[in-house]
Formats: sequence, C-alpha cells, structure tokens
Amino acid sequence: MCYKVVERYSVCKCVYFQHSIDPCSAYGQRGHSVQEKTVLVGYACSRHSARGASSSPTAGRGPDSGYSSSKGSYR
Ligand SMILES: [Zn+2]
Ligand SMILES: [Zn+2]
Repeated sequence: MCYKVVERYSVCKCVYFQHSIDPCSAYGQRGHSVQEKTVLVGYACSRHSARGASSSPTAGRGPDSGYSSSKGSYR
C-alpha cells in the first residue's frame, strides 16, 4: 500500500503540507488506492487562528443552583 503523508492542523483540520506519495510496487494498478496518513500539527492555520474571528455572544446566565447534595444511604 502506498502512503501519502498529509500534515494537518489539529485545530481546524486544514491541510498544512502534503508530502509526495511514497509508492509501493503495486502503485498505479487498477483498484489500488493510496493510504493517506494524517499527521497533526499542534496549532491552527493563519485563517483559523485569527483572534476575534469567533466572537459569539455569550448569554449572561448564572450557574444553576440546583445542586442536590444527597448523602449516601448509610446503615
Ligand atoms: Zn501501494
Ligand atoms: Zn484552518
């Protein structure tokens, strides 16, 4: 099986770098597929790492105070 190493950003899964195919002896035959090997790089690309891009309005909700602390039934 041929391998092609594709480096992707681990955050946004964009392609960082595509290596050339490492062919095996059956390369180019019918029905032969190239196995893609994904290598994650530990950051986002310049498009998705831009600050301020994801400014979602957070609802000002307080934490729910419905925490019931039930102690275990001891005998
Ligand atoms: Zn192959
Ligand atoms: Zn990206």
